[in-house]
Amino acid sequence: MRVYNFSAGPSMLPLEVLQEAGKQITDYEGSGMSVMELSHRGKVYEPIHNECISLVRELMNIDDTYDVLLVQGGASTQFEAVPLNLLKKGRADYVVTGNFSKKAYKEACKYGDIRLVASSEDAGYTYIPKVTRKDFRDDIDYVHITENNTIFGTKWHYTPDCGAPLVSDMSSCIMSEVADVNKYALIYAGAQKNLAPAGVTLVIVKKDLLGNEMAICPTMLKYSTQAKDNSLYNTPPCWPIYIMMLNMRYLKKMGGVPAMEKINREKAAMLYDFIDNSSFYTNKVNPEDRSIMNVPFVSPSAELDAKFIKEAEAAGLVSLKGHRLAGGMRASIYNAMPVEGVKALIDFMKKFETENK
Ligand SMILES: *Cc1c(COP(=O)(O)O)cnc(C)c1O
Repeated sequence: MRVYNFSAGPSMLPLEVLQEAGKQITDYEGSGMSVMELSHRGKVYEPIHNECISLVRELMNIDDTYDVLLVQGGASTQFEAVPLNLLKKGRADYVVTGNFSKKAYKEACKYGDIRLVASSEDAGYTYIPKVTRKDFRDDIDYVHITENNTIFGTKWHYTPDCGAPLVSDMSSCIMSEVADVNKYALIYAGAQKNLAPAGVTLVIVKKDLLGNEMAICPTMLKYSTQAKDNSLYNTPPCWPIYIMMLNMRYLKKMGGVPAMEKINREKAAMLYDFIDNSSFYTNKVNPEDRSIMNVPFVSPSAELDAKFIKEAEAAGLVSLKGHRLAGGMRASIYNAMPVEGVKALIDFMKKFETENK
């Protein structure tokens, strides 16, 4: 029996995608081999790889001035790849809005003159700072933000005017709502939230930024290496890329990112409305900065939180435990979470409230 999996990542994938992969798991399109067994330089794998990349371009409206790369190491490796590739003058500004952006900032500090422009750590990362052009230094290589803060449930709902190339970690919101790629110089995302199983990382980078990497930049981390070889410099994670390709096909069939955004907004609105109208549950995030992907909430006590998580699991609503840094509960409602899953969660929340008030 399938459960509703509210995990922040790895997270749910559409059932149809899993079933399609399952059907061909031992014999992909008559090749007599599993995709897991295919040579990454062979005729059978090649179309999978290229279709994955071209569907990403199509779904996100990415023009030819950008390279679309499929790399390894997760979003965390991008924390260092970004400065190693983009620090030309040696200066960048960071806005810290959660644990992941703090890690990205710390990693970058090893490689140049990195300034912390603003942080919402003072308020437990419950808001997105309002930053304007004057907050950023002139003459910097780039500005880094974390678009959606997976652990704390906040999202940038505006694009900062920073006067420099904008780099965004979109791991937990990629393709959840329409994003204008042209506003960014570089977007990266670990796949295991909204795209694919863990193992592949998507990088979308403006071509004119490539080729200026620091001398110490490892060959494997150079975007120019991966761009030149169509992300086949070394063995790519063929299986996650295959599932990602199937998921991109599925997303296209469902109406693409605009259709997904509509459903995602409905799901999030339902859950936030319920929480806001309840005297039992609380979401501590500044309402205008709320994420539509990750919804953290608490009950009146830590004891009740623990009871909630346990009983929810028994009811087929799993992985609702909040991150250890945030506590309480967190419902991650990515693209693959159906509306019915959110409704089932709200029904359970009502029942739990009645029984424990
Ligand atoms: C999950 C996540 C990461 C870390 O991703 P890995 O692929 O595990 O390295 C980084 N940033 C954000 C916003 C995330 O949600």
